[in-house]
Amino acid sequence: MDADLADLFVDGRRQPAHAADRLAVIDPASEQAFAEIPAGDVADVDRVVASARTALADAGWRGTSVGDRAAMLHRLADVLEKRSPEIIELSVRQNGIPVVSQPANVQAAVGTYRYYADLGATWEVEERRGSTLVCKEPIGVVGVIAPWNGPQALAAWKLAPAFLSGCTAVLKPAPETSLDAFLLADAALEAGIPPGVLNVVTGGSATGALLVDHPGVDKIGFTGSSAAGRLIAEKCGAALKPVTLELGGKSASIILDDADLDVFEATAVRVCIPNSGQVCTSNTRVLVPSRLHDDVVAALVSAFDRMVIGDPASAETTMGPVVAQRQLERIEGFVAAGRHEGARVARGGRRPADLDRGFFYEPTVFDHVSNEMTIAREEIFGPVVSVIEYADEEDAVALANASEYGLGGTVFSRDPDRAMVVARRVETGTVGINGYSIALDAPFGGVKSSGLGRELGPEGLQPYVQHKSVYYAP
Ligand code: NAD
Repeated sequence: MDADLADLFVDGRRQPAHAADRLAVIDPASEQAFAEIPAGDVADVDRVVASARTALADAGWRGTSVGDRAAMLHRLADVLEKRSPEIIELSVRQNGIPVVSQPANVQAAVGTYRYYADLGATWEVEERRGSTLVCKEPIGVVGVIAPWNGPQALAAWKLAPAFLSGCTAVLKPAPETSLDAFLLADAALEAGIPPGVLNVVTGGSATGALLVDHPGVDKIGFTGSSAAGRLIAEKCGAALKPVTLELGGKSASIILDDADLDVFEATAVRVCIPNSGQVCTSNTRVLVPSRLHDDVVAALVSAFDRMVIGDPASAETTMGPVVAQRQLERIEGFVAAGRHEGARVARGGRRPADLDRGFFYEPTVFDHVSNEMTIAREEIFGPVVSVIEYADEEDAVALANASEYGLGGTVFSRDPDRAMVVARRVETGTVGINGYSIALDAPFGGVKSSGLGRELGPEGLQPYVQHKSVYYAP
């Protein structure tokens, strides 16, 4: 164990946790534990929530002006940017995402804090409507529960709007990526954000559940699996606690018959299996017209053949391990199901022969897949793509929409107007044309089992705001 023990971040400093139980933090490239974190218990969750409630007081954070809070968000972005090398180095060891891909996580976080800081300049916290004054107040103490695949970015999507509106927060990072949450808390303090506004409690699902259940938490912002999202939504429903959920996906790339396959090949890794397929918007279904089937499979195989799999700390590596043993085993289970149900492995389908340590898996292409097969229905969260043939455009849209999920998606065509017609028909929260990249100023989220509510853009501020109408007597 060579990293500092991380305990709680509460009242503006690191403090020992009450919980005796600890979870190991494992480097997925070496399979070695290099740190441990507390599995936060009832006493720990009580403390962080109390700290956030005290900081929320009228004389505290919610009493500051939007301008002051926006200025602090700008400073937080600056401090995070300055400390990004440290965050990147730590993150590589925690989640195994290659060092060349890691900056995206910090840059998206920095960009999000700046975006909401800028939004503060034009955000009207009070609006006069005739003899009524509409006041926009912070919703209160926010419980932020984040996953491991983009830990800084996905926390920022919740914390930045929450802080701008005057909320305080408890962050419960994923157990795999808890250590960099303490760097964020340090950065917030350095940026002048008062003690107690951001608190951190570590642990797994049990700690997350304690946060969801806590009566001192007024709202939950969650990113993670649809299974956990459903459990959280049930509890929030019973407590009438507002909740935003960003969940899983099984998004489709629709290759139209006029698509430029060079464009598809150039962007295939980023669109279909970013971060070893561990991104919720991964386009793990590739829908192709029968006549282009062989060319599209060849394009995918050739793009995946060029990936450099290995040590994520090396600047040469473009694909690291998956995050954990359980994730590797899950992928192997899905690949076995694909074979069993009659799909053909066109590439990969096994662990790399030359790597005997680490949770590595070959980028994998299945063809002869039908949309009803397990590999086409369920989120694998690994580097596995299914190529599915369609008869005509109508069939392509029907296949794309025949999914319990609706988060991302991409339409490939030489004709952007034609692509747009198809994009409008896809049941999804977001869709790209000839590529996919998330814009911080536009709402992001899912339909169906992919989530509830939206993050980012002006829309992402609303879940953290409570409206109060004050009627002046005429
Ligand atoms: P997960 O749902 O197991 O865990 C996510 C977070 O929730 C962790 O911090 C975990 O400790 C916590 N958690 C788990 N169960 C909980 C419960 N019952 N109550 C409270 N907290 C709980 O997911 P994971 O395996 O860490 O992440 C991968 C999943 O997240 C994938 O399914 C992926 O699609 C999804 N994801 C979605 C988005 C998005 O923006 N929609 C982004 C990244 C990941």
